[in-house]
Formats: sequence, structure tokens, C-alpha cells
Amino acid sequence: MKRRDFIKLAGAVSLAGCASPVPSKARVVVVGGGFGGATAAKYIRMWNPSIDVVLVERESSFTSCPISNLVLAGYSSMQEITHGYDGLRRHGVQVVQDEVVAIDAAKKTVRLGRGGDIAYERLIVSPGIDFNFGEVQGYEAAMNAGRVLHAWKAGAQTIALRQQLEQMRDGGVYVLSIPLAPYRCPPGPYERASMVAAYFKQAKPRSKVLVLDANPDVTSKGALFKAAWKDLYAGILEYRGNAKAVGIDGASSTVKLEVEDVKGDVLNVVPPHRAGDIAQKAGLITTNNRWCDVDWRSMESKVVPGVHVLGDATLSAALMPKSGSMANNHAKIAAAAIIGIFNGRAPADPQILNTCYSFVSQKEAIRVSSVHAWDEKDRTLKTVPGSGGVSAARTEAEGTYAWNWARTIWADSLG
Ligand SMILES: Cc1cc2nc3c(=O)[nH]c(=O)nc-3n(C[C@H](O)[C@H](O)[C@H](O)COP(=O)(O)OP(=O)(O)OC[C@H]3O[C@@H](n4cnc5c(N)ncnc54)[C@H](O)[C@@H]3O)c2cc1C
Repeated sequence: MKRRDFIKLAGAVSLAGCASPVPSKARVVVVGGGFGGATAAKYIRMWNPSIDVVLVERESSFTSCPISNLVLAGYSSMQEITHGYDGLRRHGVQVVQDEVVAIDAAKKTVRLGRGGDIAYERLIVSPGIDFNFGEVQGYEAAMNAGRVLHAWKAGAQTIALRQQLEQMRDGGVYVLSIPLAPYRCPPGPYERASMVAAYFKQAKPRSKVLVLDANPDVTSKGALFKAAWKDLYAGILEYRGNAKAVGIDGASSTVKLEVEDVKGDVLNVVPPHRAGDIAQKAGLITTNNRWCDVDWRSMESKVVPGVHVLGDATLSAALMPKSGSMANNHAKIAAAAIIGIFNGRAPADPQILNTCYSFVSQKEAIRVSSVHAWDEKDRTLKTVPGSGGVSAARTEAEGTYAWNWARTIWADSLG
């Protein structure tokens, strides 16, 4: 996509949000301060400061999954990917550190874990994902015993995985298991495999990365990842498709596949996911017991009126990835639509874009992007023919753009 087209798109979203004053003191409550929730809270306040916005987030700060794979390789730090909520407070967002344990859509209230209800006129729910641990037999027991990690929510498990990689003997095997799509960040596991291989190449050259993918083939930027693995990590990284993890035996450090067992020194098994627990409790899940269907013009739930769902928790439109980039865009659709609803305006037809960078070595990255526009006939978002695409090759320039993308989206969502 050309830069001027991107500016046009960004402009289209922000113009939709320009608002006249809201009649009375309306309140929007936002559950979850990740890429979706933080961005929505900020943009509602920015586009209409007469609206009260309360953000409830269980953590004291935001830890970014983007760039967390570089922490595993030692190329970035937890400090670099951790950001506070003071930027949102400066926009007038009331940040409450607590967990929302229940939503009463009839009374329009949310219940806090530490007690007390908060009333809302409109609710935004952006809880990210939780895991279907039960689909991998023995997972929870092995995780509780410290024998397997997912590190698919950045934070304590990112630190633990880095420590396990550092402590692993040279000549050991790191096993990364990927669930069937859809999962959060399609290229994320392949970036992780590349980053761990880069670390081994430099620090433990006799070690191996074994990728067990439940999908038949690499789900995103396949040719670019495979070229990087061949050129940079031959003899270190092995990829196997159609290799779905069905169980784990923590005691023998074994991942059980449908047809064989695989032993490893460090087990990093990413279980299948679904929308975060609160979406399930609130009756927002509509599809496959996993995802929340929404009206893409407003992000409003198709089953619980007055509640807007963003980010990874949504039932993705065709070819739409679960990404921070998308969650940030969903947030802007919802912010504009909610301000419009308060002012009696129908939502505009959205057009949004996604860009996902992946590092394949310390400095080189590859990119995929796509543009998603409202289709009136099928009433969904569809990719715009001829838009988007992937990098021609891995380059250091893309690596620089990847860092710039990360710093820009952190600032846009939280700054
Ligand atoms: C290794 C990895 C690399 C990635 N790299 C990229 C990348 O390069 N580019 C990209 O675009 N995307 C990337 N992603 C994907 C991206 O992180 C997610 O798509 C994004 O975080 C989704 O945003 P969200 O708002 O839906 O959820 P999240 O960002 O996970 O936010 C959810 C928040 O809600 C809070 N919460 C949940 N339930 C409650 C509750 N009941 N009460 C209070 N708070 C609650 C959580 O604490 C959390 O802070 C990556 C993901 C991974 C795992």
C-alpha cells in the first residue's frame, strides 16, 4: 500500500470520529487495556472529551506480545515491551486496576473482582484470548509443574521461557508446538522459531529448534520464512507440518502427537485459544464455542446489545488476522461508532488495514499487509482486491520499519 493511501485511510477513520458534544454525561466502560481496549479508551476521549471513559484492566501495566519474541533471543528486554497507563490517564481515562468478573447487560453494569459495580451506557470488551487447555491432555498439570510454557501472553511466561532457553544444555532440543488456525498472530510462532534459532546459532550451536505445526504448512509468509530458515538456520531448525499436539507428559518432557511422541529439553506448546473468559461469562461467544461475532460497522456484539467486542476475541472476518494491528483498528471503528450512536448518527462504512512484521534474524524482518473494507452486500469486511501483500525479501530496512511500527503502535494505543 502506498503511503498516501494509508494516510487517506487513517484520515477516513479519524474523520468518522470527529464529534459534536454528547447530550448528557455519557459513560463508556472498557474491559481490558491491551491493543484493542487501550486504543478505544484513548480515542473516545480524544475525539469527544465530554464522554466519561473508565478502563478496567487487571494488570498494572501493558506488556506487548509484539517484540516479545526478540526478548526470548536476548535482542530486546521486558522493560522495552512494558508500558504504563499514564498516557491514557493524561487523556482523562479513569484507569481502574481490577478484574471484571461479571457483566449485567440488562442493568448495564460490570462487577469488579474487588467488589462494586460500574454502570455504563456503552460497554467495550477487549479481553484478548484464553486457552482451551483441555484439548492437550496433561497440559495444565505439566504447566503447573513448570514443565511446559506457552508464553503466548507476554509477561511472566516470557521471562520463564527465556530463562529455560538460557539454562538449556548446548545440544538440547527446544520444541515449539503451534495450534490449528485461527490463533493469535498467524506469523508469531514462525518468528519465535526464527528468534530462538538465531539465539542458538550464536550461543548454543549444537542445539535444535523443532517446530511441530498442527496446520499442514506455515500459515503466514511461508516462502519468506522457509527461505530464511534454509539460508540462516540449516541444521538448527526443523519444521514439521500436520503435527498436532494432543498431550503432554511433563515428567518425561514429551509432547504427544497423534502418531508419535517427541521428547524435548524445553517444551513451548501453544494451546488452542478462544475469546477471553469474561466474553464467555457474558454470553458474547457465538461461534464454535470460541469467538464473538460482531457487526463490523460498529463492533457491536450480534447477541448482546450495547456491548462492543474488539481484537482477538472477535470471530475474525475472512482473511483477517488476530493481531495488535487489527485490534487497534477495531478500536477506532468502535470509538467512532459509539460517539456517533450518542449523537444519533449511523456508523460509517469502515475500511481498515493490517500490517504484521516478523523478525527472522536480529536485524532482518519480513512483512505482510492487507486492507479490509465494508461489503454492503455480504455485510462483512472483505479484503480489497489488489491491496496488501508481502515483502519481496527479508531486509534490514524491514527490520527498521518493524521497530518503528512497534514504537508507533505503542504510542498510538497508550501514549
Ligand atoms: C508472540 C506474539 C507476537 C505477536 N506479534 C505481533 C505483531 O508483531 N504484530 C501484531 O499486530 N500483533 C502481534 N501479536 C498479536 C497481538 O499481541 C494480539 O493480537 C493483540 O494483543 C490483541 O489485542 P486485544 O486487545 O484483543 O488483547 P490483549 O492485547 O491481549 O489485551 C487484553 C487485555 O485484557 C485484560 N483482561 C482480560 N480479561 C479481563 C478482565 N476480565 N478484567 C480486566 N482485564 C481483563 C488482559 O489483562 C489484557 O491486558 C503477537 C502475539 C504474540 C503472542
